[in-house]
This record gives sequence, structure tokens and C-alpha cells, in this order.
Amino acid sequence: MTVSQPKRLIIVSNRLPAVFRQEGEDWTLQPGSGGLITALAPIMQRSQGLWIGWPGCGPQAELGPLLKQFREEQGYQLLPVPLCEEDVERYYRGFANEVLWPLFHDLLGYCRFDRQNWEAYGSVNRKFASAIAAIAAPDDFIWVHDYQLLLVGDDLRQMGVKQRLAFFLHIPFPTPDLFRRLPWKMPLLEAMMEYDLLGFQTLGDRRNFVNTVITLLPKVEVITRQRHHTLLRHEGRIIKVGHFPISIDFDEFNDGAQSPEVEDAAWYLHENLRGRQLLLGIDRLDYTKGLPERFLAFERALEKYPDLLKRISLLQVVVPSRTLVPDYQNLKELLDQLAGRINARFGQPEWTPIHYAYRSLDRTQLLARYRTSEIALVTPLRDGMNLVAKEYCACSVDNNGVLILSEFAGAAEQLGKGALLVNPYDIDDTADAIYRAINMSAEERQRRMALLRGEIRRNDVHRWLQWFIESAQQEPPTEE
Ligand code: UDP
Repeated sequence: MTVSQPKRLIIVSNRLPAVFRQEGEDWTLQPGSGGLITALAPIMQRSQGLWIGWPGCGPQAELGPLLKQFREEQGYQLLPVPLCEEDVERYYRGFANEVLWPLFHDLLGYCRFDRQNWEAYGSVNRKFASAIAAIAAPDDFIWVHDYQLLLVGDDLRQMGVKQRLAFFLHIPFPTPDLFRRLPWKMPLLEAMMEYDLLGFQTLGDRRNFVNTVITLLPKVEVITRQRHHTLLRHEGRIIKVGHFPISIDFDEFNDGAQSPEVEDAAWYLHENLRGRQLLLGIDRLDYTKGLPERFLAFERALEKYPDLLKRISLLQVVVPSRTLVPDYQNLKELLDQLAGRINARFGQPEWTPIHYAYRSLDRTQLLARYRTSEIALVTPLRDGMNLVAKEYCACSVDNNGVLILSEFAGAAEQLGKGALLVNPYDIDDTADAIYRAINMSAEERQRRMALLRGEIRRNDVHRWLQWFIESAQQEPPTEE
């Protein structure tokens, strides 16, 4: 698929699409490999693009030769914004991850409001904006990503940058009632209004944003509400607010799941657990993912439906994340306890109910789990999109997997017809969905999975990118 070509694409995100590590005296570079990075690469190469972000280290690191190597190998340029330890602590861990992350995921109880962290967030956003302003040409297309950089558009305007600015939020946007709890709600919202295109994951997020703007900024006028976007007028400017559900490279997962290594690994996994239906959970360690609730729902299913005993196992992989943060350490301890308790309560010499691993997987092992598990449990309390849900379906090449999906994952808007939707807070509801999935007829599985795969195949990450860039480049309607 060809994507309409911006002049030069400047991507701005908290992290660069590469990991820099210090080994002894030397620094090494490992290019990133997520779906978005891969999808953007050809456009970045064609447009001689530039990616601006934190390299994961401070100003002392000598990155020059590695940046040159990256440019030669990947065909586009990185511009690092080095951050000192205190910046990282306050802007990233303090404000982004202990205020915006929980608040935007409807988990107010995890928020720690701290004025100094807010100020550090402001000064680091300005640092990013200065790096952009120093290098941007008037016809560059500047696209800022995610909740760590909400203020950058406003900073750029104050620095005299005039061109159209686009922003995409990868996490949910909360309701006006929740957003109002933020002590710095007004400066944050007003700053967001300096972008020309604001992209959200779902129609629900877009509505939450527009309602928040209408509630808190009464002078803003809604010009039109259309299927894909709403136009707002604010201080003489027109701002487009759209929703663009992010996706995966369907073909890459679909093909990868049929490779001989993945097929072997999938066979081996199931052979070791013969006679069981496998329920799969793959999540970063995060309190938004609904992991304790999922373990409790699995326990409830075993308790309520004794015919499931020895017939099912939960394979739960938890990928370590934010390991130094106390809330995440507590969550890890709770999961260890729950898995131990449930296995002790129901386990038998020849059967372990929960196989719980706290580690990351290589690609073959990940795809093998997707390919071979009869059921996926994707039950976050709230999630911007959830790519695991889409990856699981793309790997279900025999059309026989069942997706149990939280109604509070962004993916539910697109996948609600094929998945079994659950409320993850309702333990019995999830337990009943597990029972229903186990007993689902082959025809129903096929019908549902075909719907899911068709939707994800049509709306893959390449289409997402094309759609966003085209939408950002369209001129707003001229006012009569
Ligand atoms: N993933 C990974 N390593 C693993 C297991 C999974 O990198 O060991 C990937 C997975 O393929 C998916 C991403 O992590 O692309 C998780 O994305 P998702 O949107 O589901 O949740 P997030 O972690 O971004 O909140």
C-alpha cells in the first residue's frame, strides 16, 4: 500500500526507536522493532525523515558514531534529546507515569499529584520543542506522539513554529469528570488545542476529549461532527479531532504463525499439555491490565464449573515493566501469591491450573503461544487499544481461537462482534465467558474468528498510517 508522502516527516516521541546501552566504556545500539516503527520505516526513508526522542541516557553519552550507523543502516535520522536523572524521575516516572497514565486509564487512586513533577513535565516538553524548533523547516510534517508530550505543540507555537502540527494519543482519554480532577487541567487542555489534528484511538476517547473541551473551554465552538472527525473552532483556528484505531502488520503475524519454527514450537507446547484447552494471557506487568481480576475469574470458573478441572490451563506471561516502581512491585507480589494459592487449591500431580511466567518471550515463542492457545484472555481494566488481542487473532490461522476481550479495551470498538466481551471487574461474568468459550462449537469459533481476522486484515497498521497522514495533511475547510 502506498502512503501519501509528506515532505519530511518528523516523528517526536518520548523514546527513540532504538535502545542505547552502555557496555563497559562503550555504547551499543539496538534498533527497535515494534509494529509502528516497522510501518513508519519506509515513509521515514522516502522522506529523509527525522525521529526525535529520549535515547534512554543523559548528555554524557557519546552517541555520535551510533547515530551515524543508525542513519546508514535504517535510512533515516535520529535526534536524541538527552535527559538527566532528575528529569527522568520527575517528568517521566513522576508526572507521565504517576499522574497521566493512571488518570487517563480511569484509575484515579494510583495518581500522585506533585507540583514539582508537573513543572518538570513542562520543562522537559520545552526541551523537546526546542530540539524540534531548532531543526524544523516550514514544510516539514511534525507528528508528536503520546501522553508524555502533550505540551509540545503549545511550546512550538510560542517558539514561532507555524506549520500544521499533528498529535496522536496512544492511551485512552478520560471523561470530563475524571479529567477535571487534574490540578493542571486548564493549561494542559489549552496546550492540546494548539495542535491542528488530535488523533485518539477510539470514538469513545474522541467523544471524551470533545466533551471535556466543551465543558472546560466554553468559548470553543463545535463546527461539525462527522463520522471520522469533529471540527472545533478555538481562538480563530480550526482543530480537527479524529479517531484512528492503531493496528498491527496483519500479514507479518499471519505469515509468521505459519513458519516451520513457530509450528514446531506450537506443537511442542501443546504436546506438553496434552488433552487441555489452553487459555493465554500475555501482558506487561501493569495495574491497568486486570491481572489479579483475571486470576480470580479463572479460579471462579474452576470453582463454579468442576467439569473444567484438568481440562484447561491458563498460560500467563507477564512481561517485566517499570520494575523499580513500588505499585508495580506490589502487583507482582500479589500475582505470585494468587497463582500459588490457586495452584495449591486446585492443582493435582498431573495438572497445574496456572502456568505463570514473569519474563519476556522471543518472537517464535510468542507466536507459538498465539497459534496454539484455544482461547485468549485479554481483560484489561482499561486500555488504549491492546495489540495482543489483534496479534492473537492474526496468528489464529486455522480460525479456531476464541478471543475473550474486555469491553474497556480500545480494541472492543472494532472487535466486539467477533469476541466474547466481558466486564473485567465482574469476576463471575469473566468466569462464565471462559466456560462458554471452552464449550463453543467449532462452527461458532470459525464464524467469530473469521470476522475478527477480516476486520484486522482490512484495518492494519499500514492503513492506519495512511489514514492519519492523509487526515493531517488535509487543509481545514475555509470559513465563509
Ligand atoms: N510483547 C513483547 N514481548 C513479549 C510479549 C509481548 O514485546 O514478551 C509485545 C506484544 O507483541 C505487543 C506489545 O508487547 O505488541 C504489547 O502491546 P499492547 O498494546 O497489548 O499493550 P501495552 O504493553 O502497549 O500496554
